[in-house]
Amino acid sequence: MIYNTKLLLCLMVFGLMISACNRPTDISEQNVSRVIQTLSADHMKGRHALKPEIHLSADFISNEFREIGLSTLSGLPDYKQNFTIYSAKPIETSVHINGQKLDSKYYFGLAMTPNLKWNTEDANIKNISSEDNYREKFRALTDDQESSVVLVSREHSKLFHRYRSYFVRSNRSLELNKTPHDVFILTDQSVRSFNIDLEYDITDHELSNIAGMIEGNKKDEIVLFSAHYDHIGVISPVDEDSVANGANDNASGVAGIIELARYFKSLAPPNRTIYFVAFTAEEIGGYGSTYFSDQIDPENIVALMNLEMIGKPAIEGPNTAWVTGFEYSSLGNILKESAADIDFEFYPDPYPNQNLFLRSDNAPFARLGIPAHSISTTPIDIDQDYHKVSDEFNTIHIPHTTNTIKAVANASKMIISGEKTPTRIDIEEIN
Ligand SMILES: [Zn+2]
Repeated sequence: MIYNTKLLLCLMVFGLMISACNRPTDISEQNVSRVIQTLSADHMKGRHALKPEIHLSADFISNEFREIGLSTLSGLPDYKQNFTIYSAKPIETSVHINGQKLDSKYYFGLAMTPNLKWNTEDANIKNISSEDNYREKFRALTDDQESSVVLVSREHSKLFHRYRSYFVRSNRSLELNKTPHDVFILTDQSVRSFNIDLEYDITDHELSNIAGMIEGNKKDEIVLFSAHYDHIGVISPVDEDSVANGANDNASGVAGIIELARYFKSLAPPNRTIYFVAFTAEEIGGYGSTYFSDQIDPENIVALMNLEMIGKPAIEGPNTAWVTGFEYSSLGNILKESAADIDFEFYPDPYPNQNLFLRSDNAPFARLGIPAHSISTTPIDIDQDYHKVSDEFNTIHIPHTTNTIKAVANASKMIISGEKTPTRIDIEEIN
């Protein structure tokens, strides 16, 4: 007969400290507070994904995972899942229309290649006309699988310049030399000929998601808890403070996944496998979650719960949290029903117009059909600290945050045990 050492030890000290045996670790205010305070400290410099200080947070989270005793994901030597993103800055550019050189403020390119040459013969010409909805047409043209030269009506000057100033600074991608690419030109001229010559300075940035797991009896049925750990970095100063600390956005969510990991690790091995993932680069375009979603088999992910800003009580009250895209799978309802007896309510996202369901790190997974939703508590419409230097540790309601993490732990138990399985998202419905 083989004895379980832990059980044996428990029996040996029976009577003295039996109550400590097999008792799950509490999700404690002390730990929640410590994690948020550390990640939002000024020396973290606002955790901008492309700045060197991001590694301080990455190392801190890795260390927590190590101390908790999480396993690494298969194929990874440690908790860091490294990948590269590329940014392209225009250096030498020239665009001629009907033989005339255009001022550079009337065009911009979206290309991830050192050099892009185009002339009339090999281009596919499209339009954003004065009647078109600029945003919708822009999105459709950049999402289609064709490279095009897009002539934009001067009626859209204002939006064109806004988009141009954004993309000239931050044209980024997970892939280099990828096609299609598009060039946008603001003109009302009828175009008989053109010549486009754009040269880009390409920089690569090494980024890391931080991921750990508890392997379950069912290895390939995975419940994933995630939260982004990056923030927006250093911004224009207010009263000499220029660090956007990101305590609520999203050190609070990271504290959530770390404490969920600590809690579930203290229980008996789960039936389903549990992943804990801190995504990078959410704030600059969701690159961490997009990369991670490319590495997994979507069929293996049973549910994804993404914690996003859980540091302040929701408008509906302190014991509530909202779930984005509630109606697209049964995950929200499972959480709601499971939390009924713990006096906590999960309810649908009260800000559907903000389209948070497709704006957060759950989105690339939802687009694969995974029941992937974000859970938040912040009254985002009236929050004074959102993306400001004032998103500091002292604005966080620690008991509320701790309580929310406990509710997520309790409400997700039936999914982890395999008793409940949320329905998949219908991709047609969300796109
Ligand atoms: Zn966020």
